[in-house]
Amino acid sequence: MKLKDKTAVITGSSRGIGRAIAEVFASEGAQLVITGTSIKSAQKTASEIVAKYNCKAVAVALDVSKLGSCEALVKASLDNFSKIDILVNNAGITKDSLVFKIKESEWDEVIAVNLKGVFNCIKAVSKPMFRQRHGRILNITSVVGQIGNVGQINYSASKGGIIAITKTCAKEFASRNILVNAIAPGFIHTSMTDKFTEEQERVMASVIPLKRFGETFDVAKAALFLVCDDSSYITGHILSVNGGMYM
Ligand code: NAP
Repeated sequence: MKLKDKTAVITGSSRGIGRAIAEVFASEGAQLVITGTSIKSAQKTASEIVAKYNCKAVAVALDVSKLGSCEALVKASLDNFSKIDILVNNAGITKDSLVFKIKESEWDEVIAVNLKGVFNCIKAVSKPMFRQRHGRILNITSVVGQIGNVGQINYSASKGGIIAITKTCAKEFASRNILVNAIAPGFIHTSMTDKFTEEQERVMASVIPLKRFGETFDVAKAALFLVCDDSSYITGHILSVNGGMYM
């Protein structure tokens, strides 16, 4: 088991990619802190994962855009498990619009959740991880943060910012044996992408070398690699999980 008795805090793990990461970590022996914006959705997912993998898990309601909420998440994790070995910053939202149409509130909200949310969680976890003198932080960015996308000025800016945060924290935390990496997924089947019609998906997939969207477990298996001992000499890396869409 690659994560036996490791404590993993995964933001936005009530569904989608975060849930798949939680499941893969549970299957490798981790104890989990599952979060959603409501305690109900987090609790439902946590109990399903506990039943399936016979692991320990607690559920916490979280709004990553609020530093106080992220500090409460870290406190709840330490109260339950005494340590945090792994933080996955996965929570994210989209509010797509063309630049000339986008509302200030749509810019602010996406930056607050996607970018400031990563800062908030890293800031909150940094003290306990520094004291432990070990830790893994994994940020979920996006191919859109690397190549941009029409209609996603807010989202692509937030995801580009996460790449910069990843590299800065990798440098700043290395002396404490805390490794900081990111995954940049391409298009992955979740509720975030189910707004596309079949025809839109077919056209989008046609320009991906592997000719298909990815699945949540494609990302989750890469996440496992970046938080387990197999990657102990890798930090500041942005791992593409995008079917070859951007190389
Ligand atoms: P998803 O299915 O929409 O799930 C989003 C998760 O984030 C949910 O658990 C949601 O909680 C949580 N969340 C939303 N707002 C939050 C907030 N303010 N504070 C805390 N948690 C919040 O999304 P996904 O597709 O799995 O995406 C996961 C991550 O991968 C995101 O960062 C996304 O940008 C990135 N990504 C996705 C794709 C893709 O194609 N799907 C591609 C590249 C990158 P509730 O369940 O309570 O709403």
